[in-house]
Amino acid sequence: MPPTTKEMVVSAFQDLVIAQDIAWVDKRSDAFQGVIADALQVLGIQEASLYKTKYLSMIPLPHKIIYATPFEPGVETEDFSLDAQLDTLSHEKTHKLDAVLEGVAAYGLQYGLRKTGRVHREMRANASMAEWYRARYGVEMDAVRMADGMRYYGCTAEIQFAEIEMRSMLLTVNAGGVVGGLGGEEMIRWALAKFPELIALNPFA
Ligand SMILES: [Zn+2]
Repeated sequence: MPPTTKEMVVSAFQDLVIAQDIAWVDKRSDAFQGVIADALQVLGIQEASLYKTKYLSMIPLPHKIIYATPFEPGVETEDFSLDAQLDTLSHEKTHKLDAVLEGVAAYGLQYGLRKTGRVHREMRANASMAEWYRARYGVEMDAVRMADGMRYYGCTAEIQFAEIEMRSMLLTVNAGGVVGGLGGEEMIRWALAKFPELIALNPFA
């Protein structure tokens, strides 16, 4: 299958972020990001160093949803290949869709203050990435590994709950379906319209 190109990443960013009125910032240069990183660490949600360098983040604020990345879209870094930049967008899009659906205040409370609420929303975003992975590469993602990732979100005691959630959604995804309302569907439909060569397994065919 063809590799992800710079043009594809820039196009995805334009269509799925900028055109939807999501503000983009580069975590490496945006001064505000240090404050967010410190706040997440104090709340026990994520280590500041991981937030700044290893993770992408959709930050739902009352007036604006911000997409913060530790790279410039389309420019590879040590941690983020072009594939990774595109793949992880499916995950972040689900956070955005959920925040809009629930309302940013309710979403922020559920994500920030309730660990099961955080796990639930992260597993939905992971299911979205699993949908994208299966469509893009024909590969299934691993529920145990994705659930285990919650230890980096301050949710070590909730990993078993995360795995149950993940497995239930993967039943649909691995059977060739899509879970309603996730960013994976949006990403797959975008690719089918603009770069159909990206799709190895079309769940809508
Ligand atoms: Zn996430």
